[in-house]
Parts: sequence; structure tokens; C-alpha cells
Amino acid sequence: MSRIVFFCIPAQGHTNPTLGVVRELVARGHEVLYYSYNILREKIEAAGAAFVACDEFDAEQHLTPQEGARIGSDLALSTRVLVDTTLALDEMVCAEMERLRPDCIVADSMAVWGKAVALKLGIPFVSSTTTFAFNQHSPKIMKQGPKELLNMVFSMGKVSRQIQRLQDRGYPVKNILDIVSNDDQTDTIVYTSPQFQPCSETFSEKYAFVGPSIRPAQSEIPKTREKLVYISMGTVNNDMLPLYRNCIDALKDSGYQVILSVGDQVDISQFGKLPEGIAVYPSVDQIAILEKADVFLSHCGMNSASEGLYFGVPLVMLPKTTEQSGVAARVAQLEAGIPLKKTTPQAIREAIITVLTDPQYRENAAKIAEGFRSCPGAKGAADKIERCCKIR
Ligand code: UDP
Repeated sequence: MSRIVFFCIPAQGHTNPTLGVVRELVARGHEVLYYSYNILREKIEAAGAAFVACDEFDAEQHLTPQEGARIGSDLALSTRVLVDTTLALDEMVCAEMERLRPDCIVADSMAVWGKAVALKLGIPFVSSTTTFAFNQHSPKIMKQGPKELLNMVFSMGKVSRQIQRLQDRGYPVKNILDIVSNDDQTDTIVYTSPQFQPCSETFSEKYAFVGPSIRPAQSEIPKTREKLVYISMGTVNNDMLPLYRNCIDALKDSGYQVILSVGDQVDISQFGKLPEGIAVYPSVDQIAILEKADVFLSHCGMNSASEGLYFGVPLVMLPKTTEQSGVAARVAQLEAGIPLKKTTPQAIREAIITVLTDPQYRENAAKIAEGFRSCPGAKGAADKIERCCKIR
């Protein structure tokens, strides 16, 4: 039996894919401790890990809601938050790992404090990457738009100051890439398939592309019409009432069954009486819907996009962050979906009809699904972690 410690950031999208791996390790008889945040306690404990809260040790970030929404696209802000958190957790995490001496640390690629302590104490380490893995070849595929490039250039001074703060506390990081990119020497689990990961052949044999982790549906959704259109902008930046109104307007006479998941920041009473065939909810059993959907209008969060494609559902894509744009670019490249260029009712209707009527999108989504389904999943991730434990 080994003792394995997980670290993650307080985000559902980064935590959910690891829970199947935790379950698998616990089932194999290992002791698993999971350092995370109280909002995720229930899920983590349900997966069988001993939960340890980082909340009270973490720095008060004092982020405004506007800053919170920018985290995924503002490099300087994201780096500041990661560095603040790493420094705030440093003492507690180092003392705990000295005491526990785990056989392996598994940390989300954004939970840099997990990697830092593993390096400091010489503990075997596995990086857990819930987005695409990123190396020097990736920008060719995940094209940066002019907005992202400008943001990069203007952020560099601020980012260097944050890197200096880490160096001052003895962390061996040279630049921003040491924090955010994956490297070929680190054992790394990536929750996608080698087919969907851009330039997967450029990553070393240290990488395990284990496929997305798809939870089972919790309910049965009745399909009431021939075509089912599902619309969701995810769980974070989803306060988009005008977009939802335009979707309803676009599809009100379409004859399609339409389900919108609008999140908890929008008051659904504002929609008034809905046209027949259209239903709006704050949150839905997304897997149950995707099992039956014909098209998914999505913000292209890695989880949502993977879940849609896993069920062979083609996408209409409206990404907001750099990461989502990377996912959308890959889906467009594999021709399993199309970008939504404008958010007018007419543009929404046309994009949905295009994806529904041209069979190539569904065929290409089905090819990606095949790749996902032949991945080793949580078992493969657990095998990788066990091998790293044994190296010691
Ligand atoms: N989700 C859900 N019900 C909803 C909307 C979203 O269960 O009504 C789940 C979805 O299945 C996915 C996650 O929330 O697993 C969203 O993650 P993603 O990475 O797509 O986007 P984020 O919310 O992080 O922007």
C-alpha cells in the first residue's frame, strides 16, 4: 500500500476528472489524502480520499467579480494569484509533507504548490493536467489571437515581478513557462486522448493521455422532438442573459427540443412564458442530456467539450477564455463543430442548422468519441501513479 497526496485548485473542472482516479487508487488499497478547498470537500470525501482543507492557510485574494472572470485570460492576474497562493500555503504544505512523507504527490498543473514541495523534498511527482498539455509546439495549433498576444506582451513586466517573489523564497523557477507549461521530464496525466490533444506526438513517453473522465448520467431525459439542441456556457462565466434571450428567439419556431442551462447568476423568471419545446434551467444533468443531444452550443470548457464529443455530439462554439479558444480551435480543426461568429438570433439559428444538416460534423465528433473511448481512463492514470510510487 502506498500513501498518495493530491493537490488541486478550487475549481470543479480541475477536480472532477481526478475523482475517478482517487476512487480507483482507494479501491486498490492505497491511502489517498486530498489537499483542496471546502467547496469540494463533499465530492472528494465521497470518492474515498481523506480531505484536508487549504482554505484557512490560503491568502485572501480579494478578487473583484470582474477579476474573477478574467482569471482564465489575464496572464498577469493569474500568475499573481498562483504565486500568492503558493507563498501562503508554503509553510503548512512543507511541514505536512515532511511529516507524511508520501510515496507520491499528484498535483493539478495549476496547483504549483504541490509541484514545488515535491521538488523541495525529493518526493516522486505526477502532474495532473485537465486542459490540453502545453509545450513549445502548442502555440502553432492553439493560435493566439491579437488580443491574447497584446495581453502577453503587456503582462510580462508584472509576471517577472511575481516570478522574483517565488525565487526569493527558494523556488527554482526561471520563467512563467516553468509554472504553466508541461515539461518532458515530469510524469504527467492528461485527461484527453492522444488524437484530440494537439501535437501529442511531440510529448515524451512520460505523458499518459488517459482520456476524459465521464461521470454516469443521474437521470433519464425524455426526447420530445426529433432534434435536441442543448445550450450551456458552463458554470463560471455564464451570466449572459442577452445571449440566452437570442437563443430562445433564434429557436422558438424551429420545431426542435431546446434545453438551456443558464447557471445560477441569471434569474430564470426573467424569461417569462417560454415558447413550446424550449426549457430553461439553472443547472441540468448535462451527461443525461448529451446522451441524447444532436448539437451542443457550448463555451468549450474542456469538460463540456469533451463530454459532448464523448457522446458524438457536434458543437457550435462560443469560447471566452484563452483555454476555451484553444479547445474550440482544435474542435474546428477536426471539423467536429463550428465557431459562432456573431450572437444574433439569425447567426445562432444558421450555425445550429449548419451543424445539424451537414453530417460531417457528427461523423467527425464520432471519430473523436472513438478515440476517447479507447483510452485507459482512471485505471490507466492509477497505473501511472503506482509506477511512480514504485520508483522510489
Ligand atoms: N455542468 C453540469 N450541469 C450544467 C452545466 C454544467 O453538470 O447545467 C457540468 C458539465 O457537465 C461540466 C462542468 O459542469 O462537467 C463544466 O466544466 P467546463 O470545464 O466545461 O466549464 P467551466 O464551468 O469550468 O467553465
